[in-house]
Amino acid sequence: MAGTGVFAEIIDGEVYKYYADGEWKKSASGKSVSIINPTTRTPQYMVQACTQEEVNKVMDAAKAAQKLWARTPLWKRAEFLHKAAAILKEHKNPIAECLVKEIAKPAKDAVTEVVRSGDLVSYTAEDGVRILGEGKLLVSDSFPGNERSKYCLSSKVPLGVVLAIPPFNYPVNLAVSKIAPALIAGNALVLKPPTQGAVAALHMIHCFHLAGFPKGLISCVTGKGSEIGDFLTMHPGVNCISFTGGDTGIAISKKAGMIPLQMELGGKDACIVLEDADLDLVAANIVKGGYSYSGQRCTAVKVVLIMESVADAAVEKVKAKMAKLSIGPPEENCDITPVVSESSANFIEGLVMDAKQKGATFCQEYRREGNLIWPLLLDHVRPDMRIAWEEPFGPVLPVIRIGSAEEGVHHCNASNFGLQGCVFTRDINKAMMISDAMETGTVQINSAPARGPDHFPFQGLKDSGIGSQGITNSINMMTKIKSTVINLPSPSYTMG
Ligand code: NAP
Repeated sequence: MAGTGVFAEIIDGEVYKYYADGEWKKSASGKSVSIINPTTRTPQYMVQACTQEEVNKVMDAAKAAQKLWARTPLWKRAEFLHKAAAILKEHKNPIAECLVKEIAKPAKDAVTEVVRSGDLVSYTAEDGVRILGEGKLLVSDSFPGNERSKYCLSSKVPLGVVLAIPPFNYPVNLAVSKIAPALIAGNALVLKPPTQGAVAALHMIHCFHLAGFPKGLISCVTGKGSEIGDFLTMHPGVNCISFTGGDTGIAISKKAGMIPLQMELGGKDACIVLEDADLDLVAANIVKGGYSYSGQRCTAVKVVLIMESVADAAVEKVKAKMAKLSIGPPEENCDITPVVSESSANFIEGLVMDAKQKGATFCQEYRREGNLIWPLLLDHVRPDMRIAWEEPFGPVLPVIRIGSAEEGVHHCNASNFGLQGCVFTRDINKAMMISDAMETGTVQINSAPARGPDHFPFQGLKDSGIGSQGITNSINMMTKIKSTVINLPSPSYTMG
């Protein structure tokens, strides 16, 4: 159970502690932040509201610890990570319990998130050993005008202190996807978890604590992003920010200093369906891609662009599959669970009502109880409706009927977002042409968009982000190249 057994030391009375200098601490602020259970809509947990002074101390400790960590042999760093991964998987149930209560993730998916996170940490340790174990040797005489008098040895070195800020929808997985590459590369790590999901993240951090990482190397400060976010992201002690979330990331990019940024932001992933597509496959992917975790996934299908000639048939198949979705609490493993907050539910409802007023066809009756919104497919959506462009992050999906593949690509590219997209067709040549034309970080052919497997490159264009994730890319991104040049005494000096 959460907050008990090995996790007993991370809670003080009703309030979870924050993690700094290798210890669990109460904030001097004396204030806490309440986490509302999306299903019951009552307070579930409380976390510390950390102060700026506490952030300063965390940064100082991180800086000092990082210097020693960078000199810790790579194989040893990998061993620590493997140990943390094993502990994380061993304690998957209490962590999953937090995910169910804080973000209403269906119980089975919550366990999967923790196990996947353990696997990600281990894979990163292995990948890091290979990638960081190699450097380059360059010789000078390949560049015009040079003799072979200089030998350049280059290798990857850590950046310093990495600030990791994940979003609510994968507070464990999207935290470790930042923590593990930062640590294997020799960086220190400061985590600011999302408020909804903070307690799951604190449990996860305790698994790293139990693995015995040096004091100060890893810390986790809690509090509302709107209150301590700016102080963290503009802190002079931070050498890299890895952020996943919504538009907040755009604001952070404008304020952050001259440091590497990894920004994985929102999406409006388009699903283009051509006339020759396998409509059963299309329907299965629209339902899975659009409604899993109630549509609260960055790579959820967020707009269907379908050829008019097959639209009626496809919509009928999607409706039939949607009728089988179970709706209810996450504890019962329902397919559709309450969305994360009342304000999210209100925002989703606003998009639905705008579409209704402008004449969209509702394939099901719109229904909402508290934060629980019944899955809804909106047909005959037109570009003047907000839902054609905005990201609902909920179980409502617009269908726009198109007359040509070009029209579909045009709608996709007119979006401010460019995360992923997908195309369904049996014609691989057409699929490749459409993939080339879509301005998104990834295009899936004959499958719904998805992040993962976690070692695949993952990136967004335009307002969907900068930089690229995926294990190898994140390790590379959290390092810089260091060169040492050996100069021979004289280019004319030769032996033999
Ligand atoms: P969000 O509101 O942008 O919050 C993300 C994180 O930023 C949270 O930890 C939040 O903390 C923190 N934050 C808030 N204000 C901040 C500030 N001023 N400075 C620094 N940090 C601040 O996003 P969300 O609602 O959690 O997540 C949903 C969004 O994430 C969607 O748009 C989704 O598409 C996107 N997403 C993208 C990807 C991807 O890989 N591209 C993956 C998953 C989700 P608090 O919780 O305390 O406010």
